[in-house]
Amino acid sequence: MWPEIGRPTVLVPVGSTEQHGPHLPLDTDTRVAAAVAARAAAGTDLLVAPPIAYGASGEHEAFAGTVSIGHDALRLLLVELGRSAARWAARLVFVNGHGGNGATLIDAVGLLRHEGRDAAWFPCACGGDAHAGRTETSLVLALNPALVRGGAAAGNTAPLDELLPAMRAGGVAAVSPNGVLGDPAGASAEEGERLLAAMAVRLAVAITRWTPDPTGRLR
Ligand SMILES: [Zn+2]
Repeated sequence: MWPEIGRPTVLVPVGSTEQHGPHLPLDTDTRVAAAVAARAAAGTDLLVAPPIAYGASGEHEAFAGTVSIGHDALRLLLVELGRSAARWAARLVFVNGHGGNGATLIDAVGLLRHEGRDAAWFPCACGGDAHAGRTETSLVLALNPALVRGGAAAGNTAPLDELLPAMRAGGVAAVSPNGVLGDPAGASAEEGERLLAAMAVRLAVAITRWTPDPTGRLR
């Protein structure tokens, strides 16, 4: 309720709606970002906003289910959301679950900071494989195992750096017919739980420290 809100630090999870292989849901990134934000905020006076469920996912558009709003629309959305929330929020953190949103976040947060608003962003990064592989499969198993289909095959397991030129030209479909970059084998809820907990702690510590780097990223 609005009278209880005061002048908080607000966490805005930013995700995507994009294919995550034949075994994970389209809203995987959104769920992960929302979970990391919720865990970091638990027991604190940090406020978690409803997540932004669409992002810049053009590289996945060859796969059904993917909906990308692109960099320009996402940038405008983040900027206007930030301008509005900053009327009452002391600080604003975009908690990002989709790597493809990164450049747009840097842009939008840069503008908000230039305008004098105390915004920052934080990536839900935990190493591991790039997309719908062991890492993300473990994360979703930890969040809700009913959302994971069994028996998913490996995708393209080459390092992302090697795949990027082909992906820039033809998207993920050009390098991985099933949409997976990595290998879901070995994924487990226990591993996902560990990764979620570690990301939430890093986020909580980064918010306490509050030293956005030149790109606006909290470390
Ligand atoms: Zn993802």
